[in-house]
Amino acid sequence: MTMLTKRAFPAGLLPLLAAIIVSGCAGAQPIRLPGSFHVADADFDGTRLRIRLPNGRVARLDVDEYVSGSVPAEAALGGLDPATARAVAEVQAIVARTYAFANRRRHAHEGFDLCATTHCQVFRPLSTWPAPIARLARDAAHATRGMVITFADRPINAVFHADCGGHTSDAGSAWRGDSPPYLRGTPDTYCVKDGAAPWRAEVSISDLRRALNRDDATNVGRRLEELEITEQDAAGRAVHVTLHGARTLAVRGERLRSVVNANLGPRTIKSTRFTVLRDGRHVLFEGRGFGHGVGLCQTGALARARAGHSPRDIIAHYYAGTAVAAWHSLPRVSASALPARTVLFTGSWTASDYPRARGPHAPHWLQE
Ligand SMILES: [Zn+2]
Ligand SMILES: [Zn+2]
Repeated sequence: MTMLTKRAFPAGLLPLLAAIIVSGCAGAQPIRLPGSFHVADADFDGTRLRIRLPNGRVARLDVDEYVSGSVPAEAALGGLDPATARAVAEVQAIVARTYAFANRRRHAHEGFDLCATTHCQVFRPLSTWPAPIARLARDAAHATRGMVITFADRPINAVFHADCGGHTSDAGSAWRGDSPPYLRGTPDTYCVKDGAAPWRAEVSISDLRRALNRDDATNVGRRLEELEITEQDAAGRAVHVTLHGARTLAVRGERLRSVVNANLGPRTIKSTRFTVLRDGRHVLFEGRGFGHGVGLCQTGALARARAGHSPRDIIAHYYAGTAVAAWHSLPRVSASALPARTVLFTGSWTASDYPRARGPHAPHWLQE
């Protein structure tokens, strides 16, 4: 998460930024989002996860240990007053656990559950963090033990981003497909107070063309004339952009951002909440926010925590209609009881525009 150098992004946000950066690096890789996942959990007791550590070793970790090491890797905890730090850490702990449970089959074919990079969720053993941060993270994991964010009695796809810039977006407008009810765009007055100032990025036409041509979806050929935002969502994010060049192509805004950032640096287009205009030999992007804008806005969550909102209230704001519940209290579904292709989500999450995205056919949420 680190595209911003602003003070609004404390050091703790760096890993998150790193996640975005890494995810943006390879044009063919999905944005850091979960793929489709199976409802079946008869083989999972909720106590341990098989994590592939940064050194390549696979370790069976206690869930709380995993959550503790993910919290400071994904949220900024330094320099906050104690109550705010506690609330932010607890929000992130619940999000981390929910994400892990909902996505724990991502690496099943490789013999483990989750990797420790931005591909899944960043994890660093607690022993590698400064003592006060480690203590905060451990306390947050314990205080929220077993708790996950649920919708229809299932852990949700708890996606989050650094800063929505004042309005989150539907999952479907960032990626594709239907948006689950809890991932719909909503105004956020809090991050605007504490959040980043508007950003701007000026890129030469030739650099931009070279970057775009490195991906089939944005390859305009030998000439690039203009970028035209052809569809915006309610938040003002560019849902579709038409590239006018030797070839004229329509591309999703989030895909454009991913391709450009993979080639020109992760701080280039910080979010799809931008306007774009050509100025001679340059293209000027101006925008707000940082990240994909779907789900929980970390800058807004921090501002809400500072204003005294509880972790549950914060979660309820960003994931509308959800509950926070003990995973062990949820109804279990056994694999054998499910139709072979039952999944919670498809398409949208593997990012639509990516080659391996599956079945973009409705309905996307709940069952295929
Ligand atoms: Zn992974
Ligand atoms: Zn926000």
